[in-house]
Amino acid sequence: MSELLTVEEHRARILAAVNALPVETVRLDEAAGRTLAADVRARHDLPGDDNSSMDGFAVRFADVEGADAESPVPLRVVADLPAGSADDPAFGPGEAVRIMTGAPVPTGADAIVPFEDTAGGLADSLGTVEVLHAPAAAGAFIRRRGGDVRTGDAVLTAGERLGSYALAAAAAGVDRLEVRRRPRVAVVSTGSELVAPGTTPGRGQTPDSNGVLLNALVTGADAEVTVLASVADEPSAIEAVLEHASNVDVVVFSGGVSAGAYEPVRLALSERIAFDKVAMQPGKPQAFGVVDDGRLVFGLPGNPVSVAVSFEVFVRPALLALQGRTAIDRRHARLTASESWRTPPGRRQYLPAVVDLVAGTVRPATAGGSGSHLAASLARAEAFAIVPAEVSVVAVGDPVDVMLIP
Ligand code: AMP
Ligand code: MG
Repeated sequence: MSELLTVEEHRARILAAVNALPVETVRLDEAAGRTLAADVRARHDLPGDDNSSMDGFAVRFADVEGADAESPVPLRVVADLPAGSADDPAFGPGEAVRIMTGAPVPTGADAIVPFEDTAGGLADSLGTVEVLHAPAAAGAFIRRRGGDVRTGDAVLTAGERLGSYALAAAAAGVDRLEVRRRPRVAVVSTGSELVAPGTTPGRGQTPDSNGVLLNALVTGADAEVTVLASVADEPSAIEAVLEHASNVDVVVFSGGVSAGAYEPVRLALSERIAFDKVAMQPGKPQAFGVVDDGRLVFGLPGNPVSVAVSFEVFVRPALLALQGRTAIDRRHARLTASESWRTPPGRRQYLPAVVDLVAGTVRPATAGGSGSHLAASLARAEAFAIVPAEVSVVAVGDPVDVMLIP
């Protein structure tokens, strides 16, 4: 029996072959899902001024600190500040300025009295206002300049994924961002038995679910599928599709890499990329290499669960590393098995699983075993339970490392 590689050995070979893609500049509104290539620093203090956090009245705290319902304090309202106003109206003792949320607090004020704490409420406007409740302290309801970020603070770090929240933070400083180009990926299903989804399979035929699966997985890894093909078990078809997909960064074949008699990926590419056995279940036969022009080529075993696991363990980290992403792994959790199951000897198991994050438990996604051909059972999975090679059975109550799939 030939030597098995560990998952880590195979993964390390792959990651060693990955170089981050070139940097390009995009507008903020085009940047969702991209990976930042340079830190973003705040160009301004945020907030830019001391401003009001309430609709109400800017006051001198000393004027109103004794106010309550029995002894309301009347103030003369001398100015009005809507949000967006740059005015800094002067006002004296016994006076106030009406102010809306977000407007800069006048230099002479040191507290805000919300409308709700005045006799007239919103109706109180530019005449007088009666303060019924004193603010808790000087500074009440004032958001300080620079309280969120100060000029020069790092807002975002290179290698971060630009999600909605990150983009909102970037808006503090810039309108364009330096990001990595999205990886272009060819997804190629192999198998003379495959028919298009929606077609009724004849005898010996099966729907091509891997194409659909990988298309969605690649897209979910913020990469772009530019070629989506299904080819028969002919080495010449593999050659042809590789030639056609000349403009991609990554080619992902599913099927055709194992030890059968008609494995077209192996037959076509055994001189150009490495075919290995990895100590995992599913996903033992794996092919990977860099073809002469720099494209990364993956050959994944064809069973749908094997494809899903191989993608998570090898392809997704590579797609994220191409984008310069710092965090290339899924989130893991340590959960407790709520059912028992058997695991294969000598190979690390990745078992499609269902989790209860409130109870902190994990169980197999299917009662009927862990067959790597069970595409429909994969639909129930929201995680992979990862069981070390040396463990042969997981018992109820055992702690289990779990990779969470959002
Ligand atoms: P292979 O790795 O080519 O030997 O395929 C292993 C098993 O996965 C076989 O039962 C194939 O029919 C099945 N299979 C391969 N490719 C696909 C695909 N694209 N969609 C669904 N099943 C597939
Ligand atoms: Mg096949």
